[in-house]
Amino acid sequence: MSAGGAAGAATGGESEPGVGLCDRCRHQRVVRTTRGSVFSLCRRSRDEPERYPRYPRVPVLRCPGFERGTPEAEADPGLTERAADPGE
Ligand code: SF4
Repeated sequence: MSAGGAAGAATGGESEPGVGLCDRCRHQRVVRTTRGSVFSLCRRSRDEPERYPRYPRVPVLRCPGFERGTPEAEADPGLTERAADPGE
């Protein structure tokens, strides 16, 4: 897993992100890019971007927004590495 850089949640194409708490949180959405990289997107970032980054730095070990549940999986064939970059 790569856990640094601009796309901090990139996981290097593993089948499961392995991003700590987010893997068990109902607010996570797993996004796969056209190159096969996997990103953990926090859906709480839509409503509270100041508290929750769109792509949190992994692994997330503590989070006040955590709520146990099943993450959403999303295969987005139109999502490129660049589009998934939180700096965009
Ligand atoms: S609320 Fe916290 S634990 Fe849940 S997906 Fe977002 S960053 Fe991860």
